[in-house]
Amino acid sequence: MSEHKSFFRLFVKNLKKAMGPGQYEAHGIRVICPHCNHNQFDHGYAQLNTSLMTFFNLDFANRSAEILTCDRCGYIQWFNKTVKRIK
Ligand SMILES: [Zn+2]
Repeated sequence: MSEHKSFFRLFVKNLKKAMGPGQYEAHGIRVICPHCNHNQFDHGYAQLNTSLMTFFNLDFANRSAEILTCDRCGYIQWFNKTVKRIK
């Protein structure tokens, strides 16, 4: 039983490492933090499906955006298109 647990922990650790901060490009252009000029980001998704959007009849905006969080200063950039990890 304990072997299974340690395997799982190892797996999670490797997964985190693989999904750690990296360099990205959007529309073929390298993403650089506008605040601190860093080039390492954490990638994530943000759901834009909010009741506020629906209230303003902006349902076309109801989809998920891709967000890149600067690994150094935490500045968040939003992309409505796919960003590509390059490193
Ligand atoms: Zn930054």
